[in-house]
Amino acid sequence: MLKKINTAIIQKLTYDCEQATAKISLSHEQPLNKAERLQLYAHRKMCKECEQFYQNDKKLSRMIAKHKYQNITNIHKRP
Ligand SMILES: [Zn+2]
Repeated sequence: MLKKINTAIIQKLTYDCEQATAKISLSHEQPLNKAERLQLYAHRKMCKECEQFYQNDKKLSRMIAKHKYQNITNIHKRP
C-alpha cells in the first residue's frame, strides 16, 4: 500500500515517457532549466526506454554537430 502511494507521488513529480522524450527533443532547441534537467534525470533513472532514447539522441546530436562542423570547415577550405 505504502509502496503504491510512493510510486504515485514519484510519478507526479517526474515526467511521464511522453513528456520526457519531448523534453529530450526540445533540449536541442533550447537548454533545459535545472528543474527540467532534474525531472528528466529522475525519469531516466526509472525508465529504461527513455534512458535508451536519451543515449541514442545524444549520439545522434553529436553526429549532427560533427557533420555540421565538417561542412563549415570544408567551405572555408575552398579557394
Ligand atoms: Zn519513460
